Amino acid sequence: MDTATAEFTSLNPASGEAVGTFPSEDETAVRRKIQRAREAAAWWDALGHDGRRTRLLTWKRVMTRRRAEIIDLLRRENGKVRADAVIELSVTLTHVDWAARHARRVLGRKRMPTGPLMFNQAASLEYKPYGVVGVIGPWNYPVFTPVGSLAYALAAGNAVVFKPSEFTPACGSWLVDTFAEAVPEHPVLQLATGAGPTGAALCTSGVDKIAFTGSRATGSRILAACAPSLTPVLLELGGKDALVVAEDGDVDAAVEAALWGGCANAGQSCTGIERVYVADAVYERFVARLTGRARQIRAREDFGPITMPAQLEIIRRHIDDALERGGRALVGGPESVSPPYVLGPVVLTDVPEDSAALREETFGPVLVVNRVRDAEDGVRRANDSAYGLGASLFACRGTTALARTLRSGMVSVNDVMAFPGVPSLPFGGVGASGFGRIHGTDGLREFTVPHAVTRRRFQAPLAISTYARGAKDIARLEHIVRLFGSR
Ligand code: NAD
Repeated sequence: MDTATAEFTSLNPASGEAVGTFPSEDETAVRRKIQRAREAAAWWDALGHDGRRTRLLTWKRVMTRRRAEIIDLLRRENGKVRADAVIELSVTLTHVDWAARHARRVLGRKRMPTGPLMFNQAASLEYKPYGVVGVIGPWNYPVFTPVGSLAYALAAGNAVVFKPSEFTPACGSWLVDTFAEAVPEHPVLQLATGAGPTGAALCTSGVDKIAFTGSRATGSRILAACAPSLTPVLLELGGKDALVVAEDGDVDAAVEAALWGGCANAGQSCTGIERVYVADAVYERFVARLTGRARQIRAREDFGPITMPAQLEIIRRHIDDALERGGRALVGGPESVSPPYVLGPVVLTDVPEDSAALREETFGPVLVVNRVRDAEDGVRRANDSAYGLGASLFACRGTTALARTLRSGMVSVNDVMAFPGVPSLPFGGVGASGFGRIHGTDGLREFTVPHAVTRRRFQAPLAISTYARGAKDIARLEHIVRLFGSR
């Protein structure tokens, strides 16, 4: 079959039914889109912050009006239960709103101080868009996650070519359709569908920046693909987030947070809780309460199926390995893995720190709860990971100091996964969780190039950067340096 016309079908992970058929776009098709995007980018940039703000807020209203469509698609194509779909849409809308309303303040031209040497200059700084940004998204939050790049890249004045995951192209298509309803004039946001090769083509077809969200392995491939052309890359990769319960932490609240943080979206959250470290003083109480509550949570009602069939094998391997190496199953076990579901939360304890369930991303509703000496010991173990995306801490005293010692991009204190819902805060990780930021002020700047301008206002009494200067000028400069430098 001609690759340009090859197609693929996305499936409902719960039933196997087809949801939609889309083209597998090749490099020629991707290049054509980038070319169209370049023209659209010029128009979009020329609209200015106010013009874009109006249109992005219209997009938010269109998405809100057409919300039943995306809630249905998130359920059918990704497998989410209704509650997870509504939560995903709600946080998405807050980011579109924030990016639209704050872009001018964060990125618009500002006068800057000139410092003691250049006081005859007027200095200004503006953050200008890159031009055309390629956004590559995952399937686990097929609306919220790409919008973390799309809304901020668009608000900054870029046009975007967006490649959604091959598991959730219909959700991606809905984002582009709703945007086109709000901004019908030019193809400012375009869709490119397909699997890995389409994403690879996007990296090498002349975009000005790539914003990637997905696994560590693919992130590393994308970095390599972008290296020859020096295309800048934003990498939002996986996580192995820990929740630490201090000896004075609220045990009941921590149990609820661990359960929801571990099981929401069937455990398929980059910032989902996979490791729990509980201080010895409250460990027994925590485990007794957690096992009781975990038995009340059920697949199909509280969370959906595992979206990617191949992930079930990884989840099973992590559980088997943990048990073979001396871990104990407190709730569920290998028998919980029943395709396409993990039937309920799996809670393991006494799992060796070097086992797969504590080192690799499990991406299922599996919680490993290990006993630690105290909060400091919990933080030390939490930090002992290649990943460093988010973290949670339950404690009463010294929370600010403890939170600062967590090696991660984000921390929720006495809550879980609160940070993605705060649009003013940057989102992103350290280490194997990637680099660069979406959301907030940093997220807007991520999609821009700082553009600095100086304008001479008058001839400085001290001539330095000209051959018209005299020996006295340099002597005076040295005098100033001595005064200024020894202050
Ligand atoms: P993945 O890496 O398999 O795929 C992500 C995207 O990359 C897909 O669109 C895929 O088609 C594309 N792709 C695959 N090979 C490519 C290549 N060679 N070049 C360019 N693109 C290519 O990830 P996934 O399974 O879709 O998503 C799950 C992962 O994403 C997990 O690791 C999860 O933690 C992570 N994630 C991170 C965040 C975050 O913000 N840090 C958010 C959500 C998900």
